[in-house]
Amino acid sequence: MGVRIKKGDTVEVISGNDQGLRGRVMRVIPKDDRVVVSGVNIIKKHQRPVRAGRSEVQPGIIEFEAPIQASCVMLVCPHCNERSRVQFSLLEDGRKVRRCKRCAQVID
Ligand SMILES: [Zn+2]
Repeated sequence: MGVRIKKGDTVEVISGNDQGLRGRVMRVIPKDDRVVVSGVNIIKKHQRPVRAGRSEVQPGIIEFEAPIQASCVMLVCPHCNERSRVQFSLLEDGRKVRRCKRCAQVID
């Protein structure tokens, strides 16, 4: 098998609180089978003022994206703009590429 989801892909959340949201994959964590998606699974944390070198971090609420299960997202095909299952196929030069199951376009 190849890699279904890569950094920079647009994905749609298919289960959980953020179902239906789309975002760009910022990070893939293969060992946990998780991904970090911009705007998805936002965690809010209260930040105390801390000194970090010369700069001081302002107190307040910081928001960041927490990783979510890779199985909770589906790739959005850049060609047909639909969420789609991914097929793998071999090109003539031996490269393995991802292909949209809906429109059959090569995604890589
Ligand atoms: Zn497609």
